[in-house]
Amino acid sequence: VIELTDVERTFDTRPPVHALRGVNLAVRRGEHLSIVGPSGSGKSTLLNTLGLLDRPTAGTYRLDGVETTGLGDLERTALRGSRIGFVFQSFHLLPYRTVDENVMLAEAYRRPRPGLGRGARLTRAREALDRVGLGHRSGFRPDRLSGGERQRVAIARALISDPALLLCDEPTGNLDTENTLSVLELFDDLCAQGMTLVVITHDESVSRRAGQRVRITDGSLTLETE
Ligand code: ATP
Ligand code: MG
Repeated sequence: VIELTDVERTFDTRPPVHALRGVNLAVRRGEHLSIVGPSGSGKSTLLNTLGLLDRPTAGTYRLDGVETTGLGDLERTALRGSRIGFVFQSFHLLPYRTVDENVMLAEAYRRPRPGLGRGARLTRAREALDRVGLGHRSGFRPDRLSGGERQRVAIARALISDPALLLCDEPTGNLDTENTLSVLELFDDLCAQGMTLVVITHDESVSRRAGQRVRITDGSLTLETE
């Protein structure tokens, strides 16, 4: 799914910052990759690159067989909406909307389906909630859910547009052990269904769960497993 070749990302500050240097990385369908590294080492820059939010200054990035570095902004935005889901440390749910509306509105924004009416779109949102084990919470407001449930709603929201790739920046950073476990179990299920997962984490219990682990130090990647 992911193939980075000799990727560099240099910020033209003074002095210039080499946020990514000579990065080579391949992640296959259904794989779970974790990224660890100190603050300022380039983790978010790497995730933004994978998410087509940032563009390498050198090297190539193939996503699902498509070489993305030469694409225009509109094509990159379309590819992002259809192929990529994002999950962050804070859940960013709309507080005055129910859980199923939160999920439905995300699809309208990321990958609109103009042929579908509201009822059909809500049904799709509830199916995404079923996938994360929260079908019974679809009419709730976010403030009535636990932290782990909120993060699973955020994951359902990312899944609604059928992405091939789920990118997570500290997804369990705000969760206790029990809620972390519920998110990790969900990650395992998603990978078993063919989802490709890239997770930035400081949490050992999270990175242990990944099939492939890389460490990033001062913009350079080193493989820790396999
Ligand atoms: P943290 O764990 O604190 O989130 P990180 O590993 O995610 O850190 P990045 O955000 O990727 O680190 O930043 C890598 C380097 O690139 C840092 O030195 C940072 O200051 C620099 N950097 C990131 N974004 C920009 C930008 N837009 N302009 C200039 N420098 C940047
Ligand atoms: Mg970061």
